[in-house]
Amino acid sequence: MSCASCASSIEDAIRSVPGVSECIGAEILKELCGHLRFDLDIMESANCIPCSLPYITSMFMPRLRTDRPLPIPRSSKNLAFISQFVEIPDDVVFTVEYSVRAAQMAVYEFLGIDRQG
Ligand SMILES: Cc1cc2nc3c(=O)[nH]c(=O)nc-3n(C[C@H](O)[C@H](O)[C@H](O)COP(=O)(O)OP(=O)(O)OC[C@H]3O[C@@H](n4cnc5c(N)ncnc54)[C@H](O)[C@@H]3O)c2cc1C
Repeated sequence: MSCASCASSIEDAIRSVPGVSECIGAEILKELCGHLRFDLDIMESANCIPCSLPYITSMFMPRLRTDRPLPIPRSSKNLAFISQFVEIPDDVVFTVEYSVRAAQMAVYEFLGIDRQG
């Protein structure tokens, strides 16, 4: 089989599969087992309930540096923002650490804690 015919048969196979959002749990689990090389026997005792997270990538949306507030906005004396939608320079959203760091920055600054010391 040539590369072209191989690619064509793969594309045909993909086209025949409904979107992931239309799959039932058993189909998703079977696909996962294939990727992870798990024994399909686990399917017999497993119960896979699909769960949709439509906003899961929202924190990765393109933005300007000024679109999201800093944990402590420049003029704020007693108000801070925490969690994923604040702007922390040189950090990466989506992690638990990001949320913890935002809260740390707010608490440390308001309480005058010197992080270097
Ligand atoms: C499927 C998935 C996998 C992930 N895997 C990882 C991973 O491997 N490593 C990692 O670092 N991060 C991972 N994350 C991201 C991580 O879970 C989040 O970044 C982190 O939990 C955010 O913490 P948070 O305290 O800022 O917000 P959350 O954990 O979302 O907490 C916010 C809380 O506020 C509550 N709340 C919302 N509105 C109100 C309201 N009006 N009144 C009262 N309470 C309210 C919510 O119920 C929730 O309990 C994953 C996230 C998901 C969804």
